[in-house]
Amino acid sequence: MSDPHELKVLNPATEEVVATVPAADAAEVDAAVVRASRAQEKWAALPPADRARQLRRFADVVDSHIDELARLEVREAGHTLGNARWEAGNARDLLLYAAGGAERLLGRQIPAPGGWDVTFHEPLGVVGVIAPWNFPMPIAGWGSFPALAAGNAVVLKPAETTPLTALRLAGLALEAGLPEGVFQVLPGYGRTAGRALVDHSDVAKIVFTGSTRTGREVMERCAKLVKPVTLELGGKSPNVVFADADLKSALDPFSFLDNSGQDCCARTRILVQESVYDEARDFLADALAGVVVGDPADEKTQMGPLISRQQLDRVRSYVPEGAQALRGSAPDGPGFWFPPTVLTGEKHDSAAAREEIFGPVAVLLPFTDEQDAIRLANDTPYGLSGSIWTRDVGRALRVSQAVRAGNLSVNSHSSVRYWTPFGGFKQSGLGRELGPDALTAFTETKNVFISTEGPAL
Ligand code: NDP
Repeated sequence: MSDPHELKVLNPATEEVVATVPAADAAEVDAAVVRASRAQEKWAALPPADRARQLRRFADVVDSHIDELARLEVREAGHTLGNARWEAGNARDLLLYAAGGAERLLGRQIPAPGGWDVTFHEPLGVVGVIAPWNFPMPIAGWGSFPALAAGNAVVLKPAETTPLTALRLAGLALEAGLPEGVFQVLPGYGRTAGRALVDHSDVAKIVFTGSTRTGREVMERCAKLVKPVTLELGGKSPNVVFADADLKSALDPFSFLDNSGQDCCARTRILVQESVYDEARDFLADALAGVVVGDPADEKTQMGPLISRQQLDRVRSYVPEGAQALRGSAPDGPGFWFPPTVLTGEKHDSAAAREEIFGPVAVLLPFTDEQDAIRLANDTPYGLSGSIWTRDVGRALRVSQAVRAGNLSVNSHSSVRYWTPFGGFKQSGLGRELGPDALTAFTETKNVFISTEGPAL
């Protein structure tokens, strides 16, 4: 049983303790919200260009600490160094992009008889962000930075396993001159600090990223206060590979192995047209054997460990002894290691083919034709992401219109860019983050009608 007053941060590659951090309780959440409310009034009153300038300064300070942030992410989350550098860069880039949004948060002028009608986007107040452990730094930023740019204050609760990069970001914000209280990071447990943030009457919105199960609870609790939520939840994304595709690119194993598969957009259902199924299986067998799994701090490593013992046990439960599978290798000894795996003997409705495993495990399934591919791609409660591989442009367009998911790639495995909208259909979530409209998700629209026919003074 964990100590309710502290978080023990483990290096997932070695199981050594990296740091011990005090865990916030409900009273500390309340005090942070009070501080945030006070700071927010002044922050929102700043001219947009001043707010933008402060966020750009924050970006500059992050930029000069990219390597430090990346190495911290390697130690607390086991991410490969290359990935971790990209993640720190993503935080910097989003700050710059969101800063520009502060200057472009435009209302509208709507024709109305007898006067002028104008709309304003006003900040919500204090926004609570609850982040997961799979991409601790980018996801902390996706929820927080557009909210800050729109004139809100943010209280961020990172995952209990990965509080360190978020804490460092909050320190860098102060170093850059952001006013105290505008961006606070409060490490703690979901069941105490997370719930206290969700239930707090002065927190105007919750942005939650994590499991569909916890997201549902967050939404239920927010409903009691009619509090808006953005939910980024699970995924079980299809990789639809037609026979005419460039198989080598389509079957890139990092479409599901990146971040050891702990990625809500991982293409973990590999749907391959039956005429090329055998070729795909042989290609994947070779590809998995070549994946370099090991010390994430080594520049040559391609895949690191899972985040925790709990996650390792969860992943193992989907791959029982004797399962029909293609396998790569993984280190023995301390650390939460699991080898790259493709299950080849699953039915499309088995647990491994339907549930989010969140590890380096995909299922390989055949389909017959376009209609069958669409049916299988959509036969899931999730709808976050997916890839479609074909050289037939008409088919690419038809299938991308028919697949019910928020983020699709044709002849590519890309998913997330800070300048395009990101979010899920169905049980993958609610609302969108990132992209040109990210700031408006942190505002109320106010409409004001000004009569031109009132009594002259
Ligand atoms: P959770 O959804 O439980 O955790 C995500 C965040 O929510 C963490 O900060 C967590 O805190 C917090 N939290 C937990 N319970 C509550 C609560 N009742 N009220 C408010 N906040 C809460 O995910 P898990 O870490 O348990 O991971 C389980 C599975 O979820 C994974 O195997 C994966 O399938 C999925 N997942 C999906 C993610 C995604 O990006 N869509 C990200 C992470 C997980 P704490 O860390 O203390 O638990």
